[in-house]
Amino acid sequence: MQTITILGSTGSIGISTLDVVAQHPDRYRVYALTAHSKVAELAAQCVQFRPEVAVVGSAAAAQALSILLKEQGVATEVSYGEAALCAVARAYGCDMVMAAIVGAAGLAPTLAAAQAGKKILLANKEALVMSGQLFMDAVADSGAVLLPIDSEHNAIFQCLPQQFGRRLDDHGIVKILLTASGGPFLRRDVATLDTVTPDEAVAHPNWVMGRKISVDSATMMNKGLEVIEAHWLFGAAANCIDVVIHPQSVIHSMVSYVDGSVLAQLGNPDMRTPIAHALAWPERIASGVAPLDLTTLANLVFQQPDLGRFPCLKLAYHALNAGGSAPAVLNAANEVAVQAFLDLRIGFRQIDQLIARVMDAASFEAVTTIDALFEQDQRARQLAHSLMTS
Ligand code: NAD
Ligand code: MG
Repeated sequence: MQTITILGSTGSIGISTLDVVAQHPDRYRVYALTAHSKVAELAAQCVQFRPEVAVVGSAAAAQALSILLKEQGVATEVSYGEAALCAVARAYGCDMVMAAIVGAAGLAPTLAAAQAGKKILLANKEALVMSGQLFMDAVADSGAVLLPIDSEHNAIFQCLPQQFGRRLDDHGIVKILLTASGGPFLRRDVATLDTVTPDEAVAHPNWVMGRKISVDSATMMNKGLEVIEAHWLFGAAANCIDVVIHPQSVIHSMVSYVDGSVLAQLGNPDMRTPIAHALAWPERIASGVAPLDLTTLANLVFQQPDLGRFPCLKLAYHALNAGGSAPAVLNAANEVAVQAFLDLRIGFRQIDQLIARVMDAASFEAVTTIDALFEQDQRARQLAHSLMTS
């Protein structure tokens, strides 16, 4: 029996994780669940899974959750705030941590899990993009096991040799091929992108996801963040990571070897596959995902991304090549811009324009401590806010 903390259990990934966990009550027990503000949803999850601890974002939310749990006769201990998130991520009572908080808010608890040597199921790509080397060092120092949940990185992980040492050359690997659906605006007239609404932007053709990552998919910043994520996870230089548009999202990514072999992982687009893979690794368990029917896949299409249509992808490669705090600055500017777009304060095209202006105006520094990283993150957010209003 293994115990799991799910950071962000009320989100899209959190709910899919609980779905898989519920299919295997003989293997997994929930140690802790966390949510920011969806108290009623978290209470219902606590009733079903009876975790030892539940964490929310504020004292008011904690009080509301405590009342709901008492009414239901659930003995789960309730706490709130970042220190409590870090505590359930490093707790002695948990073996695994699903890192599924969205954005920079997930960095501190995900890093806490890394420092505590947990098995980490990493969905929160922003945490790794921001902290890069610091995060990978924490994993190496503690002996934590880091397993990618992002479907592309999970696919790559499955196509790599079992004893992969984060050096592509040693294994005859030439390229990592990250597939991308291209999102809802792959074929839309670029001239009309200025006027798209948040609801149009989050209407992803293949995946149902949280609003922030859905907007990132529409701008393709999601793929940009994934290029940086792949760099850290697999030790791949920027010029060894290619993005391939594949609108059907059936091939989740590929690894190209020096002998001409290209290994791919295929499956229906459902996050329960990578979640089940990482939960059980190195074993395999059922996920509840329907088997892939190859006979229905008449047309698998592949094309190069158009960087004119998707400038965010170019900005992300630029950040990776610049190094130091550049990826953290990119991520901070993107989080500010996406929130402003979702709040109807800026248009869709202003997302990439704002990020480009922040990247131009910011100075990038070496990232040597986590405190310095948070400072750089805050400075980039302030810069983004001030440029947005100027
Ligand atoms: P979501 O918006 O559906 O859920 C986010 C979760 O984080 C919620 O439980 C919410 O309560 C919690 N949260 C939000 N702000 C918080 C804060 N300030 N403090 C503490 N908790 C907070 O997002 P999602 O789609 O589940 O994505 C989660 C992460 O997984 C993201 O980093 C995303 O990039 C990554 N991811 C998601 C998918 C997907 O299919 N949804 C695929 C690949 C990677
Ligand atoms: Mg992905």
